[in-house]
Amino acid sequence: MTNSAQYDIASIRNDFPILGRQIWNKPLVYLDNGASTQHPKQVIEAVKDLYENHYSNVHRGVHTLSQESTNLYDDARVKVRGFIHAACVHEVIFTRGTTESINLVAQSYARPLLKEGDEILITHMEHHSNIVPWQIVCEQTGAKLKVVPINDAGELELGHFLELLNEKTKLVSVVHVSNALGTVNPVKEIIDAAHGMDIPVLVDGAQAVPHMPVDVQALDADFYAFSGHKIYGPTGVGVLYGKEKLLKAMPPYQGGGDMILSVSFEGTTYNQLPYKFEAGTPNIAGVVGLGAALDYVNKIGLGAIAAHEHGLLMYATSKLQEIDGLRIIGEAEQKAGLISFVLDAVHPHDIGTMLDAEGVAVRAGHHCAQPVMERYGVPATARASFAMYNTYQEIDVLAEAIKKTINMFK
Ligand code: PMP
Repeated sequence: MTNSAQYDIASIRNDFPILGRQIWNKPLVYLDNGASTQHPKQVIEAVKDLYENHYSNVHRGVHTLSQESTNLYDDARVKVRGFIHAACVHEVIFTRGTTESINLVAQSYARPLLKEGDEILITHMEHHSNIVPWQIVCEQTGAKLKVVPINDAGELELGHFLELLNEKTKLVSVVHVSNALGTVNPVKEIIDAAHGMDIPVLVDGAQAVPHMPVDVQALDADFYAFSGHKIYGPTGVGVLYGKEKLLKAMPPYQGGGDMILSVSFEGTTYNQLPYKFEAGTPNIAGVVGLGAALDYVNKIGLGAIAAHEHGLLMYATSKLQEIDGLRIIGEAEQKAGLISFVLDAVHPHDIGTMLDAEGVAVRAGHHCAQPVMERYGVPATARASFAMYNTYQEIDVLAEAIKKTINMFK
């Protein structure tokens, strides 16, 4: 296989300095993108430029640097709005990442609303960050957590989902793309069904936004969460999109500077959206870096990225299926670019270590989705997850390294 002629993989790779690294004297093959992607020089430069030329705290100063920082920070929010097609800029809340975005909704939207016996509906393929915040709020309120099962291929049982939706359901929270299985969920169908019963839906888009165009208005998602570091941006920054009507009615998540209009000991008036949910000095460099990352993704084009990653997935699936003793976990018809697998004779952690010796970075573990591991009766899997810069040649290196690992453990 070759990489498509129109998709200039060499020039993309050239933008990512770290891809030139050697690991144990072998060229790095970075296939741990589901955990975190690498950064193009455009993102690194944007952060460096902020610190070298424009940095100050945002929103509080009248001096030039504070205004320049504020402009860069605000520009990034405009970029996020465009990227996910939100109706307005103030529906974009900057958070620390997907995890914080979900916790914000759990505590600020769900907690005041939930009563004993109410239900939150999630799925069996959620990341821990879309399970534990709901368990906490259920403990706080007496609500119950309900779970939609998955089939052997790793797809949601939609019939069960419809059966579980009922008048006690106060929120559905579902992952768009599973980080452990690669399954792409039919979130539009899920949202439409929930809305048919006036139930709002949160979508965990951590693994979707980097790999496919997402339009929160077309989906009609009520809340949509994602992280900067999985889309070629910095760590410690993420986004919560929420519909204006819902966000306006929600109390603040945290109290502090920036989220207020006025404070006195008698009482405090909260700031307007989005600042009501951004207490304290935000991650200014992270936000600016995320804006640069979205510019970069737009330049390459999400359609082209999705097509390239789909090609890699097809190629890697057929290559890995040829390997005796390798079992792929997660064979949904709609799958994003990642492959979880186990080997008969080798524990996933040993796979990870052996592949590292060949320069190949994969993740080994439960991928913060222990219920998925339990569903398939495995303690862990090895996971190769693809990004825009991966090549067919790298898949060949992965396949050869797996075969070598199997031979060593024979
Ligand atoms: N949801 C999914 C599907 C994920 O893959 C991840 C990260 N692995 C998260 C949520 C949590 O993201 P973060 O750690 O950036 O908050």
